[in-house]
Amino acid sequence: MEKKLFIYNTLSRKKEEFVPLNAPHVGLYVCGPTVYGDPHLGHARSAITFDILFRFLLNLGYKVRYVRNITDVGHLVNDADEGEDKIAKKARVEQLEPMEVAQYYANRYHKAMETLNVLSPSIEPRASGHIIEQIELIKKIFDAGFAYQSGGSVYFDVEKYNKSNNYGALSGRNIDEILENTRELDGQDEKRRSVDFALWKKAAPEHIMHWNSPWSEGFPGWHLECSAMGTKYLGETFDIHGGGMDLIFPHHECEIAQSQAALGHQSVRYWMHNNMITINGQKMGKSLGNSILLDEFFNGNHPLLAQAYSPMVIRFFILQAHYRSTLDFSNEALLASEKGLDRLLEAYARLQKIEAADVSTVKIGNIREKCEEAMLDDLNTPIAISQLFEATRIINLIADGKEKITADDLSELKSVFKIFVEDILGLKTESQNSTKSEAYNQAIDLLLNIRLEAKRNKDWATSDRIRNSLTELGFEIKDSKDGFEWKL
Ligand code: ZN
Repeated sequence: MEKKLFIYNTLSRKKEEFVPLNAPHVGLYVCGPTVYGDPHLGHARSAITFDILFRFLLNLGYKVRYVRNITDVGHLVNDADEGEDKIAKKARVEQLEPMEVAQYYANRYHKAMETLNVLSPSIEPRASGHIIEQIELIKKIFDAGFAYQSGGSVYFDVEKYNKSNNYGALSGRNIDEILENTRELDGQDEKRRSVDFALWKKAAPEHIMHWNSPWSEGFPGWHLECSAMGTKYLGETFDIHGGGMDLIFPHHECEIAQSQAALGHQSVRYWMHNNMITINGQKMGKSLGNSILLDEFFNGNHPLLAQAYSPMVIRFFILQAHYRSTLDFSNEALLASEKGLDRLLEAYARLQKIEAADVSTVKIGNIREKCEEAMLDDLNTPIAISQLFEATRIINLIADGKEKITADDLSELKSVFKIFVEDILGLKTESQNSTKSEAYNQAIDLLLNIRLEAKRNKDWATSDRIRNSLTELGFEIKDSKDGFEWKL
């Protein structure tokens, strides 16, 4: 690869040139959803961030194996080692099989991701389908001396691990501080120290999801699945591990400790994390009552929403911020995104209808290089988008007949838009979503063509009737040199 991609590695805390272990192959692992509820804006941001990385790596010519897991067991409420399993709890409340709950919400997640134009990963493994691999991993950690058994459960010995390794390297936390800030265990607890985390939990009698193991009838700890599935599908050392920043501690910190303990080396070469979403400056959370589901955005049915926002507007809104910046939700920001996206996609549509001239009266400059440069610099989508807006201004001048462009420049612009707008940013006019909308577009074109014919035949009555009726329905019709343009 001649082009150098730089990405910010959370572990080294700096931008590093991305050099895959086995080019042109790239191994990418991203923590997927825990499937016990409908997907919200936070899910969208993480999925879209790594969708951009996936798409851009493909564009650079890499062969990417993208693994994004589904957590369907072991994730306890409060993200801690105590309490009920999130999925089992939902199953109990709704009187369903836990796997029914997991399937239902996995389907909901997939549907939302599809409308957001997020590409499917290459492999989507489930934690419950990899219990054997997780048990094997615990055995290795045991053999290396970093685990202990207590009451049928198995815990990772963080204090011992920290003597020869740096627990806290990813999150920047200091273990002594962590120990000071966590409660003293009174000896009633199974764990020796509160920083220790579960590798295997013995199932309480009422716990519905459990498997046999050398230690007890139970279930694996939440952090274990990603270590087990990442190395199973991508190898003991793989290129990139991603997820939301909220997963850095404890989830990813524990993953690092587990791999290091079991394998004697780190598994992940580059750690990437997307920042969080705030709502009117406040952290988003179910408990804060400001968590907005993706479906609520799509139908506008939420007290904080002034209107419905389409999936592409949500996608564009997310891409208008760099993935490492916080993204603040507000109706004003979303409305601005809606306008911006319309402008961009409209210019893309107009671009297809422009006819080439003998000379170019505008300079299209090096838009391609500038977009590429932005993406190579740690996926700087807002800068790439600003370059595309500059191109949009030029396209509109040409389409309005104020400037001219040669065939070469025209095909360059078309190629830049195809690659950056469609392939890399994954933006599309929502009418492309369904054949139904395609038929609708063609029907309007048909009506306007009949009107054009009527005008040529000086049949003003028919021509006016079509124009007036469409205008009344909310269509905006613009006559142009070669025919017409319309929008709703
Ligand atoms: Zn994970």
